[in-house]
Amino acid sequence: MAFRLQAVLLWMMAGSMIVLSLVVFPAQSQGQRPVFQTFQAGQSIPTYISPEGPGNRPGDRALAELALEAWTKASNGTLVFRNSEEKRARLRLYWVSAQSGLYGEMRPILVQGRRGAEVFVRPEIEGLGGEIDAAARADSLFRDTVVYLTCLHEIGHALGLDHTANYDDIMFFFGYGGDILNYFQRYRQKIHKREDMAGHWGLSQSDIRRIRKLYPQPDGSPPKEPEIRRGQ
Ligand SMILES: [Zn+2]
Repeated sequence: MAFRLQAVLLWMMAGSMIVLSLVVFPAQSQGQRPVFQTFQAGQSIPTYISPEGPGNRPGDRALAELALEAWTKASNGTLVFRNSEEKRARLRLYWVSAQSGLYGEMRPILVQGRRGAEVFVRPEIEGLGGEIDAAARADSLFRDTVVYLTCLHEIGHALGLDHTANYDDIMFFFGYGGDILNYFQRYRQKIHKREDMAGHWGLSQSDIRRIRKLYPQPDGSPPKEPEIRRGQ
């Protein structure tokens, strides 16, 4: 019991100290280790996606579901998400309005004494920056790309992945610099229509390797090397 309480306190402290975001906050760690592992491999994760929110468009739920599916595939099936009502969900995704230039944010939560995470995604791109704004206004698929990749990144945090300094990674932190417009455009250039997104995960080899290490196969076999190139 004492250990459990200690673990819970540690989790809450981590949640208050480590605010993970794409833009505003400096990376807390440059290492490859997870901050905290939220879930267990093979465990079915009760998941809730808010049906509405500021700037939310009808197809945005599908983008969030695609992001969950990408992590399931990347994990080789050890990550499984199932729909749940909000209060029981250990992974919750909300659509929020603009705040401080953030694309998204993740906050650890406790759900009936168990670790969970709330993910906040901003579906309204307007106001994020001149060239990103312009690209999103001119091209709805670019706008969808930004929302999808933000879901992917923030869910990555929810699963326990921290930032990297590798521009190829979905867990790359913009605070390290680099061309943000190009970061989104390189994914946008792989797709011609919305349906193409299911065939392009938006994850790097390193992202896949890390999630497989964090959520290993139940038989204890070592993480497999990423072998699927088509899906990226
Ligand atoms: Zn982040």
